[in-house]
Amino acid sequence: MNLRDRQRGALIGLAIGDALGAAVEFMSPGSFREVTGYRGGGPHGIKAGEWTDDTSMALALADSIASVGWDLNDQARRYVQWWQNGMYSVNGRCFDIGLTTRGSLSRFQQTGDGLTSGNRAEDAAGNGSIMRLAPVPIRYAGLFPDRLDELAARCIESSLPTHGSPVCQSACAYFGLVLCGLMHGLPRAEVLGAEWPMLQRLRAIHPLHPTIDAVARGSFRDATGASIRGSGYVVKSLEAALWAFHDAVDFRQAVLRAVNLGDDADTTGAVCGQLAGACWGESGIPVDWLSDLAKRDMIDTALQGLVRLPPG
Ligand code: MG
Ligand code: MG
Repeated sequence: MNLRDRQRGALIGLAIGDALGAAVEFMSPGSFREVTGYRGGGPHGIKAGEWTDDTSMALALADSIASVGWDLNDQARRYVQWWQNGMYSVNGRCFDIGLTTRGSLSRFQQTGDGLTSGNRAEDAAGNGSIMRLAPVPIRYAGLFPDRLDELAARCIESSLPTHGSPVCQSACAYFGLVLCGLMHGLPRAEVLGAEWPMLQRLRAIHPLHPTIDAVARGSFRDATGASIRGSGYVVKSLEAALWAFHDAVDFRQAVLRAVNLGDDADTTGAVCGQLAGACWGESGIPVDWLSDLAKRDMIDTALQGLVRLPPG
């Protein structure tokens, strides 16, 4: 396992978590037959192995970075391409889009400014920008550990076209740092530690939103799982994904724990899949999940675009 394997794992893991959770999205925990693999159906009537908006937006972001470098307006334009024309979709149409994302992209269509189009209201705190984050730490893994300020800025900015609230920005800063640490092969326990030196440096650069810092300080270590919810709220979504990941024995166990929380299962799965993929690499993902993932070629193309670029 090396950096490249873990970079690939982060994006493929995102798509696999999304696909595993899609069939039980919006269902209450415990109200459905336990997920153990891909399953068709769900609110969007997708086929087994197909993925949803989480992966589509990640592919749009990856394509933008690979094509033009760092350009928020280009990122927003590609999100609009997905929303309006079904580009980057598994089946050629946009069949699910978050309310915050749709409102923000409408604003972008009017203003053309991706820096300000995202909803900045405190209560616009959905998980739509952490669910798609992986392309940023994959592409900019070389900024870790020496140029954390630049890495954090990219992670935060990636939220702005759709999710401009302080809590979403903070979630992206923290989540991107954790993904980078894992992709570089640092021990999971170190990266998830409340006093991890890189986290301390991040706090000095960008003080974390109190709700995100509570997660970073270990709120996800809930042994009973009683407080864990895989909801669409960015704080609970991140917490749930970390809960599923932090003491799992392998990729399979982590991601299945995440999606079996139901609720926003595809997105909890996508967030956890990024963590688990960054930790155990593509080589740690069950081979049947790799082979049965829909439109695997789209994900491979995106990865090739991201990792062929020179560092930084
Ligand atoms: Mg989705
Ligand atoms: Mg979702």
